[in-house]
Formats: sequence, structure tokens, C-alpha cells
Amino acid sequence: MKLYNTLKKSKEEFTPLNNAEVTLYACGPTVYNYAHIGNLRTYIFEDTLVRALRADFKVKHVMNITDVGHLTSDCDTGADKMEIGAAREGKKAQEIALFYEKKFFEDFAALNCVRPDFTPRASAHIDEMIKLVEKLEEKGYTYKTSDGIYYDTSKFKGYDALVGHSHVEGLKAGARVEFNAEKRNPSDFALWKFSPKDAKRQMEWPSPWGVGFPGWHIECSAMAMEYLGETLDIHCGGVDHIAIHHTNEIAQSEAATDKQYVRNWVHGEFLILPAGKMSKSDGSFVTLDTIKAKGYNPLDYRYLCLGAHYRTQLEFSYEALDFAHASLNGLRSRIAAIKELPLSAIKDAATLTDAKAKFKDAIDDDLNTSKALAVLWDFIKSPIGSAEKLNFLEEADKFLGLSLLAESAKADLPPQAAALIAKREEARKNKDFKTSDDIRAELDKMGIIIKDTPKGTEWRLK
Ligand code: AMP
Ligand code: ZN
Repeated sequence: MKLYNTLKKSKEEFTPLNNAEVTLYACGPTVYNYAHIGNLRTYIFEDTLVRALRADFKVKHVMNITDVGHLTSDCDTGADKMEIGAAREGKKAQEIALFYEKKFFEDFAALNCVRPDFTPRASAHIDEMIKLVEKLEEKGYTYKTSDGIYYDTSKFKGYDALVGHSHVEGLKAGARVEFNAEKRNPSDFALWKFSPKDAKRQMEWPSPWGVGFPGWHIECSAMAMEYLGETLDIHCGGVDHIAIHHTNEIAQSEAATDKQYVRNWVHGEFLILPAGKMSKSDGSFVTLDTIKAKGYNPLDYRYLCLGAHYRTQLEFSYEALDFAHASLNGLRSRIAAIKELPLSAIKDAATLTDAKAKFKDAIDDDLNTSKALAVLWDFIKSPIGSAEKLNFLEEADKFLGLSLLAESAKADLPPQAAALIAKREEARKNKDFKTSDDIRAELDKMGIIIKDTPKGTEWRLK
């Protein structure tokens, strides 16, 4: 499988360090609000990656839950997002965290994302974080300011490796905006922050340096290494994390272990709105519930995401979602028709094998899901037998996660059609066959074919 590695800035053949198991870490949600569909695009991409890897390897997939320490600015200034969430809703930070974590996993499941093997919460791994900071302190990478323990990035060679050489210069320019006079270098970041003297934090812990809480970056390093060892095969996240969060994870992990932290950095591009960035903090975001309330199936959104390459920006619009909805419904209705045919034996194994190989080649080419979907459509539209088609679909769906063959995965019935079918059933009960026939004709015009069976009315799209 070929994957684009942000560190090398090129696509390269992926090989795990240890053939027995691929280790993969993904930055998880900050659970202070609902995940927006931009966040969910990143989790869909990561799920697709894990599914693809699992075709060839055993994979240990870890995704953390950030329930403390992520400040409003990724540069260690501003308030803790969890405390903001708590204040907004008049609840305890922990209640907020549990509520949004639960909601997050509901969305995750609705999108057919396979639950990671481990989903550690940051607040449950404070000891590991403190130990890591102690190690960095012993090695001379840290210094103390009035508000915390900081990492001295000038001491780490190759700090800008993930971004490129202009990185530190860029941060120097940015530092004029968010200036912290006590930092030795603009790129230095907090490993441990002290609780404020004048206010009580809801989440704080004792440490060798004083009561406080961990920095956001140290959380991911500590949890990733705790579950997956000091060198990971793959670390994923959205592109927004390259410059600061992941750059800092590398600096602190490699300084502590003297080993390469991550062999392949794989980043997903952003989902944007026509108006620009989708942001949780200004409340302008679209959630999975928003699109469900408009009558879309969460898998319509998964289909939309799979239609674009994970490394290209995707502009969200309801027109694009309508198109994804219609395509997925069209596919489901074709599958329903295939399933109705008498099941034959596989006759053309060579063509089937060839189509499966083409599909897998597309996936293995840095997750080219749109090409894989095109291979699927070509095969489904081809005159090959139903047994071959069903066999292909079963295999393809392991990668796509669209529940193509599940019983419950029938095409969605438009709400007006559901009302018409109910009205027709009523008419049939009353032996009003004229109304019943009129409604059948009306449904036909809507592209819906119905069949009366002893179990009731069955329908499919034309
Ligand atoms: P957060 O909950 O803010 O920590 O973000 C969770 C994940 O979503 C991270 O991997 C981010 O990089 C990613 N992310 C944030 N915004 C977007 C967006 N608009 N499109 C795609 N991914 C995003
Ligand atoms: Zn992270």
C-alpha cells in the first residue's frame, strides 16, 4: 500500500516496523461540544485507512479523548475548552466531557466508523504525562515560567521537519500577535500549566512543579507511547495539526526517547463551507444531527467524503450532499434488484478477480476512494451475473463501510412516498382499488415501484 507521508512529503510504500502488527494513533475529539462534520470527515478518512490496512495487516488503533488541557489557542494561551463548555452549559467539566464523548461515539457508529481498539481519556493518564515531562526535565529540555513548565524548542534539532524550514520564522512573525514575554522562543510550548492563583480550576492535579494540568501536546505523546510503544507506524490527524500539535509531539517524544516517534504521518485535508472554515468556537458548524434532521442518512455523508480524496479540500454544500444521497440510493436500489434475482453460482471468476484487484489497487494507491467507487459502479452496471456482483460488493464494502448488503440498508424512502404507501394500504383494506391504482401510478412517477406481498407493501427505487 502506498501512503503519502507528510514527513517525507511524498507517497511511499507502507511497511510496518513489526510485521505482526501496525501501530496507529489518531488524535481524538476535544469533547467540549458536538463534533462537526469537518471533524467527522477526518474520522471517516482514518476509518478508511484502518479498514484498508486491516486487509493486509493486524492493526492496533488508538484514538484519544481530549477531556482536559486543550486551550482555545493551540499556542498555549486562552482558556481550557472543557472549562468553556462547562461554563456555557452550567455543568461540571466532567459531565460535559462524558456527554460529548457519548455523543461523539454515536456519530462515529452512525457513520460506520469501526471503534478503535483503545480510546484513552487524557484525564486518566496524568501520571504518564508527568513522567514524560520529568524525563524531559532530566534531559535539560524544559524551563519554568510563572505559568508553567515549557519546552525549549531551540534545543531540539530538526524542530521544523514536519512543516518545512520557514516554520520557525513564521512562528516568530505570529508571536507578535500572541506574545508571551517569558518564553525563550516563540515556538516553545507548555508541558505543564499551573492552575491560576485567583481561580479554582475544575480539573487539576498535583505535580512535582505545582498543582495544574498537562499541555495538550504532551497528552497525545504520553498516550500514544503508553499504548503503542516509542515508535509508531502511523499517526493521523487533520492538516491543522501539522504545524503545532504534531510538530510539538515529535519534539517532546524524540527528545525523551532518542528514537523516531512516528514513521508515517498521514494527514487529512479540511472540509470547508462556502463561507470558509468551519469552527466549533464560533458556533457556525454543521453537525451530523443537523443533516439527519434534514432527512439525510449519515452514510450519505460518508459516501460524500469517499467521493473526494482525503488529501484534497472538500467544500460542503447541500447540493453535494443531495448528489451523494441520490448516488447511494441509486446504488442501493440496484443492489436490491440484484438480490431479488435467483442466486446463481459464480461463472466468471476471472472478471470478478480482476475487478476486485482494480478496486484494491485504487485503495492501495494512497486511499483513492473515488477511483474505487468508480470501479464499483462500472462492475455493478456491467452485464456480469448477480453472484459475481454480490461477491464483489461484499468485499468492497469491507473497505467502504457503506452497509451495502445489510438488510436494513434499503434505500431511504422519501417521506411523501411513505405517506402515499400508507394511504394506498388503507385504500386496499377498504377495497378502494381505484385510489390504490392511482397511488401506484403516482409512486411510479416518483421512481418508486411497489409490490404487494403477504407481509405488506414492498418497494424499490426504479
Ligand atoms: P478537535 O476535536 O478540534 O480536537 O478535532 C478533531 C479532529 O478533527 C482533528 O484531527 C482535527 O485536525 C480535525 N478537524 C478539525 N476541523 C476540521 C475540518 N474543518 N475538516 C476536517 N478535519 C477537521
Ligand atoms: Zn493529538
